[in-house]
Amino acid sequence: MIRQYELVEIVKSYDPSADEDLLNRAYVFAMKAHGTQKRDSGEDYFTHPLEVAGILVGMHLDVATIITALLHDTVEDTLATLDEIEKLFGKEVTFLVDGVTKLSQIEFQSDKTKQAENFRKLLIAMSSDIRVLLVKLADRLHNMRTLHFVQSEKKRIRVARETMEIYAPLAERIGLHALKDELQNLAFTELHPDADQSILARLTFLREQGGGHLQPITAELKQVLEEHGIKSFIAGREKTAYSIWQKMQKKNITFEQLSDIIAFRVIVDMIPDCYRALGVIHSAYSVIPGRFKDYISTPKQNGYQSIHTAVIGPNLHRIEIQIRTKEMEKVSELGVAAHWQYKQGISHDGYQYRGLRGLLDILETAEGPEEFLEHTKLEMFQDQVFCFTPKGDLISLPHGATAIDFAYAVHSSVGDHSTGVRINGRMMPLRSELKNGDQVEIITSKSQHPSPTWERFVITGKARSSIRRFIRQQQRQQFIDLGKTLAQKAFRNEHLTFSEKILENAVEPFGVKSTEDIYASLGEGLKTTGELIRVLHPDHAVKTSSKKELITSETSRKPKEHALSLSGLIPGMAVHYAGCCHPVPGDQIIGIVTTGKGVTIHTSDCSTLEKFMDTPERWIDVDWNPESQDKESHVARIYTVLLHQPGTVASITAIIARENANIINMQITNRTEEYYEFIIDLEVNNLEHLYNIIAALRMSQHVLSVDRR
Ligand code: MN
Repeated sequence: MIRQYELVEIVKSYDPSADEDLLNRAYVFAMKAHGTQKRDSGEDYFTHPLEVAGILVGMHLDVATIITALLHDTVEDTLATLDEIEKLFGKEVTFLVDGVTKLSQIEFQSDKTKQAENFRKLLIAMSSDIRVLLVKLADRLHNMRTLHFVQSEKKRIRVARETMEIYAPLAERIGLHALKDELQNLAFTELHPDADQSILARLTFLREQGGGHLQPITAELKQVLEEHGIKSFIAGREKTAYSIWQKMQKKNITFEQLSDIIAFRVIVDMIPDCYRALGVIHSAYSVIPGRFKDYISTPKQNGYQSIHTAVIGPNLHRIEIQIRTKEMEKVSELGVAAHWQYKQGISHDGYQYRGLRGLLDILETAEGPEEFLEHTKLEMFQDQVFCFTPKGDLISLPHGATAIDFAYAVHSSVGDHSTGVRINGRMMPLRSELKNGDQVEIITSKSQHPSPTWERFVITGKARSSIRRFIRQQQRQQFIDLGKTLAQKAFRNEHLTFSEKILENAVEPFGVKSTEDIYASLGEGLKTTGELIRVLHPDHAVKTSSKKELITSETSRKPKEHALSLSGLIPGMAVHYAGCCHPVPGDQIIGIVTTGKGVTIHTSDCSTLEKFMDTPERWIDVDWNPESQDKESHVARIYTVLLHQPGTVASITAIIARENANIINMQITNRTEEYYEFIIDLEVNNLEHLYNIIAALRMSQHVLSVDRR
């Protein structure tokens, strides 16, 4: 175990300006905080943060990171608070400790999720600083090194699987190869103990046969290169049990055929030396085909550079050789960490961390070099939130996304029918903004439909276009129904025979694609029935202009109103419709019990509902009753911006009247030279009625915008 003075000494060796006092204080603080707590190994708990710090010291990380490692479990597991830490160690350390604590908390969710890839992204998104992630990985490494002390087999397997699926790939993505290899091997030992044992036995057997051949082969390679004037450092190693097992999985080789179990790394000074060394090795030994890879000219996504090849080497041993420069070696061992190790001469006030965050994001998302460049322009992960479905699937959304966005991200039919949402087990308004790690359960009902107001609460293109598409389709259907009624009536008035078949002859002259399009254009008022009759019966003299009819038939075409009373309430309960959101039949609604007043009905996306979040017992599931034939009208409020022109107000009141609605209140909220802003309260039958009015208003040339309020 690393000791206090050793820790400080190593840090001082690569960072002479390190604050020794602060390091010592962190050491004492953590030791005291953990007190008599014990690890599963029976050792003092404090050995754990100390070892984690030791791992990071080995990567030459800065003092704040080392202190964070020492303190990383104090907030979660002891009485220590972030306030205390801030007083003693300052803002930077507190920020990092808080980050690691949050990652540890989200960890408990991970065994529910099947999507390791998204969980890795969540971890990265929550790592507001790359150093948080490094501490977390070092923490995991030490926990894996001591995993065999854990009594419960179930827990050991869970932790090992999590390491294999989440942490090792995460380490690889940021280029921490050595750490990744160790994590994978430790996890492998736990997950496949039998395979691990057999491979280790085979390795021992081969080693005994070859008599520890690493050393002679290293010497021969070095000599061959020197003869050609190439200075090199050569490191030989046995492959890990896990990497051998992986190879056996991927390639159809038997255990007995498995012979290239050693690998050599040739480290040279400059890039041209790499290629010269490759030439020398390829001419001295037989090349094993299909194994050559040049990651120098085409680096891996995580920045890894090296040349890989395999040859029948000295004494006819199959060996794998990696050739690279010292710089490449450092990057391959430490990955991105190599870039933000302490470097003398670089200012210490949080240098480049932000830039590295960006780099990390790009590494995580880019598929190749082209994408790498593409992504520098795209959103970074900190602009995303990751939320769980009840089944543990992760959904990634842009920052600021609401439950409605989430619903549409799950499936457009879920979005179209969502009536409410439970976030982390609590009923919340659909407009609620989501946070990283939220568990989101969308409640749906077949009879519900998107509300145009939702457009204000969504930020994803998918949700927005789905809502618009729904509303457009709905409008189109209404126009088609109306157009058909108009056409039939006009034909009747002119004593002409009406049929779909005849109408087909008008498709081409009207410049549309189908008879439905004809109806729609009639309903929308783009074409008149008079035009239609003229096209189909050029010789027929039209008696009446259809323009006037259009208006009268429009008012008479109203569909039968939907039921208006509510279901889900005790009979006799007093009901009020909230003045903040003005719900009308067809809206998704929620009832709130108000003392002495009965139930107030709000739309399920009403912002007032936020006030009742803490009293879920007052929420009542209510719905409009489709069976009821009751006809009452409901007050709806719209907000409209009109051009400041003569006749504007008259024209819009005419439109509303034509739509068969009563204006019960009209109020100017703002007036400039160019426009008026109005709030208009209307009596409508239901949502469909309101949509019709809004659509009709939007078609008017006097209207700049109409929205529901
Ligand atoms: Mn820990």
